[in-house]
This record gives sequence, C-alpha cells and structure tokens, in this order.
Amino acid sequence: MILLSKCEPTENDKKKLSDYISKYGVSAEYFYSAGQAIIKLSGATFALDENVLKSFPFVERVFETSEPFHFVSRTYKKEDTVIEIKGEKGERKAEIGGGNFTFIAGPCAVESYEQITSLAKKLKSFGVTVLRGGAFKPRTSPYTFHGLNEEGIELMKEAKRLTGLPVISEIPGESALKYFDDVDILQIGARNMQNYALLREIGGISKPVMLKRGMSATIREWLLSAEYIMKYGNENVILCERGIRTFDTETRGTIDFSAVAIVKEKSHLPVIVDPSNSTGNRKLVSPSVLASACFGADGVIVEVSDAPEETLCDGMQAISSREMRDIINETNKILPLLKK
Ligand code: PEP
Ligand code: MN
Repeated sequence: MILLSKCEPTENDKKKLSDYISKYGVSAEYFYSAGQAIIKLSGATFALDENVLKSFPFVERVFETSEPFHFVSRTYKKEDTVIEIKGEKGERKAEIGGGNFTFIAGPCAVESYEQITSLAKKLKSFGVTVLRGGAFKPRTSPYTFHGLNEEGIELMKEAKRLTGLPVISEIPGESALKYFDDVDILQIGARNMQNYALLREIGGISKPVMLKRGMSATIREWLLSAEYIMKYGNENVILCERGIRTFDTETRGTIDFSAVAIVKEKSHLPVIVDPSNSTGNRKLVSPSVLASACFGADGVIVEVSDAPEETLCDGMQAISSREMRDIINETNKILPLLKK
C-alpha cells in the first residue's frame, strides 16, 4: 500500500501513522520528492482501514497495491482448496474444488418424505453427489412458504440415510445451528451474506459452508464475507455465484460468469454456480451449467422437481430429474475438453 502526502510529514505525523499501523504489524518507509513524501507500507496491509489512513490530515491519497483480504487470497494459499465431505465412517463422499466438477441438486425446499426420498434416489443414480434441500427458507415475502424447519432437517437426514448422499441446507441464523449437526454443508443464503454475527459463529466451527453471493454484493464484499469465516478459523469455505441484480427484468437475476473466473484467480476457494435461483427460468439451467464449466466453476447447485406445478417454492425454475441426468451427461462430455 502506498500513501502520498500533501507536504513533508512532521515527526508528529509520522508518530501518529506509526501508532496506527504498528498495531497490525505494518511498517512505513518514507521517500521524499519535491516537498512531498511517498510512504510505502509493508506487512499485513490488508488489515488497515483505507478511511482511517485518508483521515490523517497530511495524507493526500491512498493507493491499494494488494487486496483487503488475506485468508481467502491466493497469496495465503497458492493451490486450490479441496473440501472433502466425509461419511459417518470417514469414507469420502464428495470432493469440492481442485478440478472436480460437483453436481449438487435437489428441491428448492424439502416438502415431504416422498418428495425428498424419491428425488434423492433418482439423483444419486444419475451422478449427483450432494443433495440440496431447504428446510428453513428465508423468503422475500412473509406470506409465502417458509419451509418445514426442524421437520425438514429430519427429512433431509432420512434421505441421507437412505441414499448415503451428503446434504446441504440453508442455515437461517446462529440460533438454528443446533439443528444442523447431521447436515454436511451449511448454506449461507444471499440474504445473509453480510450477517456478520452468523459469519463469525460459523467461522468458529469446522463444518464446510457454502457462502452465496448477496444479490447486490460486489466481488470484494463477497470475498470479505468469506474472509470473516476464515479469519475466525473455518477454512472449509465454498463460494456460490447465484446471480446479481441488474437493470434487466427478463430473468430473476443475472449470472455473473466473469465473477467466477475473477474469483478463481483471486482466491483458492472452490466456486459453485447456482443457475436456478439466478435465472429463475428452467430453460436457462442447462446452458448455464455448461457455461459454468467453461468459466472454471467447480460445480453447480441445481433445483430439481418432478412435480413443479405442485411445489411450494420456486417451481418455475425447477428442472426434472431426467433433465438433470441429461445435463450431467452433457457436462461430463465437455469437462475433459476444458482440462488444462
Ligand atoms: C436457495 O438456494 O433456495 C435460495 C434461497 O438461494 P439464495 O439465497 O441464493 O436466494
Ligand atoms: Mn430456490
């Protein structure tokens, strides 16, 4: 990080700057030119607050030369993080990241025993390796279906027991953590991406977590939310691009495919794409899965229903289990061509 001063800093200016930056183990070197100073800051500069630096009266400008996050960055870890999902006997059930393309699929919301167990069996036979299903459903409207809650988690556990598939489900807040012991991956939804109390709490455990991008969040804000989880100790973070809000209303959201490639460059964490909640249109799911693979994603999370007209949540974007089978087969054909 580089600071440019308005005039030559006094000894008092230097002391004040040093008092602030030394708390983070950052040091300053001064280079003088034409009555100004160029100040090079070295060390853990990601921990410094740009606005605090700008508030020093002698500072004219602040130039960021590195990212404001550390643990999620490729500087902290060069190689891709691979998150292993293990079964009860320690056997490997799924590997997310590092060149594997993971198919996560299931209903938007768990609605009944029959729905989740029959879907889970079919999806497993088609090559899905993680079952999704929302039990707690934070919804935009207070009048829509909000999930079966604890009963929904019990049904996910039943589907897991019958098929051996690991399961992912959305955690609505810290107080619900007690229900998630047998859930293999916690999902933090788009609406909770900046729920810092929740991020800190999940940072304190080691369970894999999939952090969805907020619908109006920049890539930097998304990665800073992931940084919270990692800073508090949980390294098992998976990122999920789920579409952002743009000016267009033809689709529910706009999948930011470039974000996938950018994040893969900046971070070692796996990136999954959600083509269902981002497009809101089942016709766009198949091409979006193929595009996700082309942009370097580590997998997809897809909403599936064999009775979309009866489902209580997001039926318009659900594909059938047979379509999911076809998508898996198509994607598996192109994956070898994409391997570098
Ligand atoms: C979901 O996965 O069903 C969901 C609600 O997603 P998001 O948080 O991305 O809206
Ligand atoms: Mn949904």
